[in-house]
Amino acid sequence: MSGETTTLVLWDIDGTLLDGHGEGKRAFYATLERLFPGKTFSDIPMAGRTDFGIWHELAREAGASDLPAFSVFGELYAKVLEEFLAANPPWLLAGAGELLRAVDAHPGFHNGLVTGNFFQGTRVKLQALGVWDLFALDGTPVGGYGDHVPDKGPLAREALEAWAARFPGREAKAVVVGDTPEDVRCAKVAGIGCLGVATGDYSMQALSDCGAEAVVPDLSDTASLIELLERIAA
Ligand SMILES: [Mg+2]
Repeated sequence: MSGETTTLVLWDIDGTLLDGHGEGKRAFYATLERLFPGKTFSDIPMAGRTDFGIWHELAREAGASDLPAFSVFGELYAKVLEEFLAANPPWLLAGAGELLRAVDAHPGFHNGLVTGNFFQGTRVKLQALGVWDLFALDGTPVGGYGDHVPDKGPLAREALEAWAARFPGREAKAVVVGDTPEDVRCAKVAGIGCLGVATGDYSMQALSDCGAEAVVPDLSDTASLIELLERIAA
C-alpha cells in the first residue's frame, strides 16, 4: 500500500453523527453520583469538550482531596453508558449512516475519529448506533480520543500521528467533520480543513465565522458531501 495517499475523514460523534437524547450526559452524572454518593454536581455544557476535561471540572466539585484517576471513572462510565443507551438507543442523525458507508466504500477514504469521548465510550456509542464496523481498522479505529487532554485541540493531530505510527510510509491527508468551534479549532491545530455541520448547538454562520472550510445544515446529501470532503482534503 506504500505510496498511496489515504484521506482520513475524522468524525466528531455527539451532535454530528448521533442524537443521544441526553443519555450520554445523564450517564455521566449517574456515574459521578455512584462514585461520590450524596454529592451533587452543577449542570455544565458538554458540547465540544472531552470526557477527561468534564470529569476534572465536575469531580473537583465533590471536594475529594484525592480524585480517582480518570480511568476509574471511565471504566464505570462505560458500563453505565451501555445500560442507558440500551434502554433508550441513540439515533443516527439524518444522512450520517449513508455518508459513513459512502466514506467506507470510497477507495481513497477511511473513517476515523476526533472525539471528546474516551475510547470505551466511543465504542459503546458507535456500537449502539450499529456503525462501529465502519470505523474498525483491524479492530481499532484510527482516532484522537478525549481520555487524556482537557479539550479537543490536539486530537486531530494525534489521529494523524496514530495513522503514521500504524501505517509508516502510507501518506494520509485528513478532514475533520464536526458541529462545534472546538472541532474547527482542532482541525486548524493539525493544519487540516474542517467541514462544519450545523446539527448541534452552533449555527452555520457561527461555524463559518470560526474558520470552517465549508458548512452544511446536515449530512443528508451524500454525493455532494463526498465531493466536498474530497475538495476540503485536497
Ligand atoms: Mg459534537
